[in-house]
Amino acid sequence: MKRILIVAATTGYQTRMFADAARRLAFDAVLATDRCHVLEDPWGDRAIPIRFDDPQSAADAITQAAPFDGIIAVGDRPTLVAALASTRLNIPYNSPASVEAARNKFLSRQRFEAAGLPVPKFFRVPLSEAPHQAAETAPYPCVLKPLGLSASRGVIRANNPTEFTTAFHRIEALLARPEIRAMRDDQDRYIQVESFLPGQEFAIEGVLTNGNLKTLAVFEKPDPLDGPFFEETIYITPPRFNPSPLIAATESAIHALGLTHGPIHAELRYDGRTAAVLEVAARPIGGLCSSALRFENGIPLEELLLRHAAGEDVSHLQLDPAASGVMMIPIAREGVYEGVDNLQAARKIPGVVDIEITAKLGHALEPLPEGCTYLGFIFARGGSPAEVEQSLKAAHAALRFHIAPTLQVMR
Ligand code: ADP
Repeated sequence: MKRILIVAATTGYQTRMFADAARRLAFDAVLATDRCHVLEDPWGDRAIPIRFDDPQSAADAITQAAPFDGIIAVGDRPTLVAALASTRLNIPYNSPASVEAARNKFLSRQRFEAAGLPVPKFFRVPLSEAPHQAAETAPYPCVLKPLGLSASRGVIRANNPTEFTTAFHRIEALLARPEIRAMRDDQDRYIQVESFLPGQEFAIEGVLTNGNLKTLAVFEKPDPLDGPFFEETIYITPPRFNPSPLIAATESAIHALGLTHGPIHAELRYDGRTAAVLEVAARPIGGLCSSALRFENGIPLEELLLRHAAGEDVSHLQLDPAASGVMMIPIAREGVYEGVDNLQAARKIPGVVDIEITAKLGHALEPLPEGCTYLGFIFARGGSPAEVEQSLKAAHAALRFHIAPTLQVMR
């Protein structure tokens, strides 16, 4: 029986999808996480307790639980622990230096620039500095972003020095939140500034074997992402044009970072001439989005990745050719989630495969740029990307979300 280590910082649905896939494959999947006390932990008390703010000790704990046939990190933070553990256990995976560069937006940009890849103008400003000087020298329009968060959290466009200063203080306040400070990440001492790259956005899902990329899917994002916040909404595959320039740019970025083994998720901007890689993460696509991907015989992404981690050749597995898409349902405004109407009707819209509402009744909702969750996910399939886009938009338009205003405490 293959024994695969899964390093995860959350025990939500994505981790559960790996657990389910492992069960179907009759693999022994062992979870290493800092959430062992959480009831939703699908592995119960069999998980290896680790702390992501102490990666060396985490790798020690994992080494003691060896042997493993393979290793997978779910999410950005776990990639470093996975890399350190894999080095000690001699399991194929990315080097610690490569995953550190991949998850740090400043290091990534430096590596891309050194490799001669197209990059926006960029610099980082220490949080300890007042933003006025940076606001004067920034290239406009620009984007301000924390170095180590993900899912567009804290990413804000500024068109002039006034917007720059407002955005800077807003990100500063976000980084001062206890849950972010608790991560004790060095990266959170800076805000990165980048010139705004125009163009359409794409994402590439792939898997690396000895440095060679197998492209699993190319997603197009049909909705413009021009700011001031960068809410991901629709992902559709296949894209409506030849994605070779995007794949070539992703391969160059992977080599520049030094990533070699396991899943990658890349984000790019393409203006019709130049494909600029925004980032390559050494992990699979997040949330429930992987459900939009089905490989031969209905194999889900998690199963493909587990088999790859176990050393199996997955290069022959092709994506189901039907057009497919997912919409991450954005949180339109702050408040308390009180339910949704028309769910059944929306599910019946032609092309819609499923709608999963992940918001929890009575829970507070926080939109971007501070928040990092969605109301849920809509999945659709169809004969063409245009049909899929239409189905996703029709389903979203049919849903009626109830969000009660949060009571303001008067002081
Ligand atoms: P995260 O890891 O949080 O997703 P990214 O750096 O990928 O952070 O930025 C999130 C989104 O913000 C991107 O998908 C893109 O839409 C937008 N964005 C980030 N940097 C730029 C840039 N330099 N130019 C234009 N858009 C950008």
